Amino acid sequence: MYDLIIRNGKIVDGTGAPWFAADLAIRDGLIVSVGSISGEAVQEIDARGLFITPGFIDIHTHSDESVLCDPSSQSKITQGITTEVIGNCGYSAAPAVGGAVAKVKESLAEFALELTWSSFAEYLDCLRRVRPSVNLYPLVGHGILRRAVQAGPDQEVSQGKLVHLLEEVLDQGARGLSTGLIYPPGCFATTEEICRLCKINARKGGIYATHIRNEGDNLLDAVTEAITIGERSGVRVQISHLKAAGPANHGRVTEALDLILRARERGVDVAYDAYPYTASSTGLSAYLPDWAHRPDGRTLREKLLDPTLSRRLQAETEAIVVARGGWGALMVSFLSDQANSWMVGLSLAEIAEQTGQEPWSVVKELLLQNQTVEVICFCLSQADVDQVICHPLATFGSDATSRAVQGVLAQGKPHPRAFGTFPRIIRDYVRERKLLGFEEAIRKMTSAPAARLGLYRRGMIRPGFAADLVGLDYASIADQATYLEPHRLSTGIVFVLVNGGLAYDVAGGVTLPGFGQVLSSDKA
Ligand SMILES: [Zn+2]
Repeated sequence: MYDLIIRNGKIVDGTGAPWFAADLAIRDGLIVSVGSISGEAVQEIDARGLFITPGFIDIHTHSDESVLCDPSSQSKITQGITTEVIGNCGYSAAPAVGGAVAKVKESLAEFALELTWSSFAEYLDCLRRVRPSVNLYPLVGHGILRRAVQAGPDQEVSQGKLVHLLEEVLDQGARGLSTGLIYPPGCFATTEEICRLCKINARKGGIYATHIRNEGDNLLDAVTEAITIGERSGVRVQISHLKAAGPANHGRVTEALDLILRARERGVDVAYDAYPYTASSTGLSAYLPDWAHRPDGRTLREKLLDPTLSRRLQAETEAIVVARGGWGALMVSFLSDQANSWMVGLSLAEIAEQTGQEPWSVVKELLLQNQTVEVICFCLSQADVDQVICHPLATFGSDATSRAVQGVLAQGKPHPRAFGTFPRIIRDYVRERKLLGFEEAIRKMTSAPAARLGLYRRGMIRPGFAADLVGLDYASIADQATYLEPHRLSTGIVFVLVNGGLAYDVAGGVTLPGFGQVLSSDKA
């Protein structure tokens, strides 16, 4: 007797092999049989006309807090995502100790959540307790570790304490380390510091995911730094959301890919992920020069209010923004303060025009009034994105927080990648433009990221593997989210199983409590 049999589906097993006709039997959360199945089950699904694939692995996300706010992960599971990697770009919600407490609280405020943990282990317990819909693969953020051990805002970071804390967190279930080297405090760390940490990370089997130091004019130096860290420490390197930002840098992904491939030939384990959009998204403050954030006795607020420093900030920020395509390329996507919510969805050039101000004055005002200002930047070329997405080494990451079509997680106009990344690849790259084969695209969404992450029992349809599965309708699969209307669910995902449980079906929505697990050990 099985728990579930899926009959008559076309199986895309995740290896890249062509689809084949077979039934699947599931028991105790695992796929137990593939083929012509005669037994009986508590439940049967007739999947005639559908493809059955392994669940998609979103290798780069920011759902660290949103999943506690709403464990249904609606924007993700409706794309067929069954596993999310959290703790990226140098930020994780734990350990919340020392100087990291204020940062985590600030981040939780956006979701109206209270801080109820301190150690990494306690945070993982909180994740388990909410019974998430999808599996969560936790990384620890380098920026959070740095804040946690720093005695005061302008004190040196004790390298000994940093190393010790990383060891502790890896022992508590973190599967690796992430950096965000454009954001404070990661941007103040040396390559040496990261190498030192990555040696320990490598010894414990962790992955190193990095938002590299520069994605514009100094892209190639930044890729080289990531490779050097892998070469010196022996760590597995995952370059996050690989891109070449700004018109002057379009085309440079070819050289970046070349660096990566040459490093692999030398034996450095380095790969990358990407999202299928020509716009990026981050905080507005990331467009300011590093010294704006440097802890030199003055806060960013004080620097913005100082007339001399403000003029310097203006000149340097304008240069950075011009290199990305100008004020018209930056669209406000989220403001934590409601007062100016009419600006959300407009570019900084449009806001400046409508308010009769200079763009810099708008930027200054927004940064002074809001705890968080998020922007979308239309700064990538389609040819670059195509090259990066289609390369065999690529895996895919939404780079997004889980969202929903209603409630706290439906605020602002987040980047449409939150709702559409995976269906968009199948619609645009596979079905419409035919740049990728269907089975190859599914491989890059399943077995490829599973191998990268050391998830050796997920990402393929094989007896003994976790029953993370997607039933999809090829003809109708599509992303529906747009920049101006991002809160739209993708279509064509008919049902999703997570660890054998029916987590989503298009008729009934998301099942709660969910069947997701916290993948905090290599037995997961
Ligand atoms: Zn990032």
